[in-house]
Amino acid sequence: PRPTVLVGLIGTGIAPSLSPALHEREGARHGIGYVYRTIEVSPREVDEGGLGPLIVAARRLGYDGLNITHPAKQRVIPLLDALAPSAEAVGAVNTVVFEDGRAIGHNTDATGFGRAMDDALAGAARDEVVLVGAGGAGAAVARALVDRGVGTLAVVDADEARAAALAAQVGARAAAPPELPRLLASADGLVNATPLGMADHPGSAVDPALLDPRMFVADIVYRPVETALLIAARARGCRVMPGTGMAMHQAADAFEIFTGEAADRRAMLADLEDL
Ligand code: NAD
Repeated sequence: PRPTVLVGLIGTGIAPSLSPALHEREGARHGIGYVYRTIEVSPREVDEGGLGPLIVAARRLGYDGLNITHPAKQRVIPLLDALAPSAEAVGAVNTVVFEDGRAIGHNTDATGFGRAMDDALAGAARDEVVLVGAGGAGAAVARALVDRGVGTLAVVDADEARAAALAAQVGARAAAPPELPRLLASADGLVNATPLGMADHPGSAVDPALLDPRMFVADIVYRPVETALLIAARARGCRVMPGTGMAMHQAADAFEIFTGEAADRRAMLADLEDL
């Protein structure tokens, strides 16, 4: 029999996460005994140094790797032995693999968004793109956009300092929400990386009246898949990219890092849409 793969997710409020089911279903398709546990931590525990002992314990308990989410994606970095280029480029880690006694950090949010763009936006003009939301996910998306050839990237956030910090990190321009009409007047694309559009954050960070059929519109919110922004963009005739692509590819990239086997991305997307 093949060795069982044991992985986990460390973060706050992760009980509803679809990651365990997504990974375990993919493991089953590969004939791997695949166990994915959630390891709930409080922000306070993370602030008070609780992450280090958890990483040590995971290694000793035989974990092959971990996914890392809010609020630990940056806090985990000093606890690792090395960073893969994806994590180095974003300054955050969402996947840790334990190999040959070393803990290596990766960022599959960035690689996942890039692959989702390749699927949904192949050939789309991307000289000028506007990214709204400069939080943890926005940082990974910004890196992927630059890597995928975006010429001029504007980073917009209600929190000016966050927009400025991310813009400096990726060589973009920072802007405030009142500048959206001017920025979108000439943009080839718009990406939402704010929580707006989720069931508990209804609405859209961008006024639908600013959308033009010339531009692609990508949302990284994926619950619901059809956000108010995407519904408005489809109605306008824009090319759209739903958040399920990033969610699936980040999981598939992590699965491949954990197992060394090629993920069935089509089947994982179907699972995600079914869960
Ligand atoms: P976060 O809280 O770290 O960042 C959100 C940012 O949006 C903040 O900087 C906030 O100031 C900004 N913001 C909020 N409302 C705004 C508005 N109206 N205008 C401008 N800026 C505004 O959150 P995060 O971890 O970056 O995640 C954001 C969302 O991305 C999540 O809610 C989740 O739905 C989605 N997400 C999707 C995937 C995926 O795989 N598809 C992965 C991670 C996160």
